[in-house]
Amino acid sequence: MAEATAVAPELRPLVPHLTLGATREEDYLNGSVCKNCGTKYVGPRLFCAKCSSPGPFDTVKLASTGELHVFTIIHQATPYVKAPYIAAIVDLDGGGSINTNIVGIEPKPENLQFGMRVKMFTEKVSEDNEGNSYVAYRFTPA
Ligand SMILES: [Zn+2]
Repeated sequence: MAEATAVAPELRPLVPHLTLGATREEDYLNGSVCKNCGTKYVGPRLFCAKCSSPGPFDTVKLASTGELHVFTIIHQATPYVKAPYIAAIVDLDGGGSINTNIVGIEPKPENLQFGMRVKMFTEKVSEDNEGNSYVAYRFTPA
């Protein structure tokens, strides 16, 4: 008779381009760098948009700091998402651009400036039916 194997709940990244460390301070974004032209991307990549090369790509650790490239304030969202919130693209220091939310400030245009310094942090955001916890990244003014 086969016995059920209990699997301990684990902490998991919400998205594949987030790598979890031993503590939340050690979490980092992972990316790809085109070995042909050096362009960095968030997450894995199969084709370089800059030099049209199919690679190869090296996996790299990306910076957790950067500048606000562009933003918009979302006032209407799906029912389970609290609005308003700030959706943004951040240009990471050293390369790579990432879609993210800016938190820790009131979502008002006067609180945001193109080029403002931001930094990443991670936190547990949800749990599945098996007790596994999921960690997501967000950015906040540096
Ligand atoms: Zn390239």
